[in-house]
Amino acid sequence: MIASPSPWAAGLASRCPACGKGPVFAGYLKFRDSCQVCGADFRSADAGDGPAVFVILFVGAIVAPELIILQFVLDLPDWLALSITIVSAIVLCLALLPPFKATLFALQWKHKAREATHADFE
Ligand SMILES: [Zn+2]
Repeated sequence: MIASPSPWAAGLASRCPACGKGPVFAGYLKFRDSCQVCGADFRSADAGDGPAVFVILFVGAIVAPELIILQFVLDLPDWLALSITIVSAIVLCLALLPPFKATLFALQWKHKAREATHADFE
């Protein structure tokens, strides 16, 4: 039995939450069916809208002040300040979605979180 890695370390590196070694993604954001290293089953992986919500909050907190600084402190023309801000928002969102999704999945894995079913209330 391999000691489980920290869900934060495994998630931020997009690695398996069970062994910390195998990659969790088969594509940009598509989970593999199982870990290539330890065989952990990822088919129940479902972080839902969670990663997008956290990425929106995080990126918004960066690009909103960025736009204000570009426009009012550096006094760039509106079109240039807006263009830079839109490009940074897109790049940041695309870069942060995989690690956020893998981290939420690793936290679900560690805490054995799953969708509540009727059987849970009987
Ligand atoms: Zn693994």
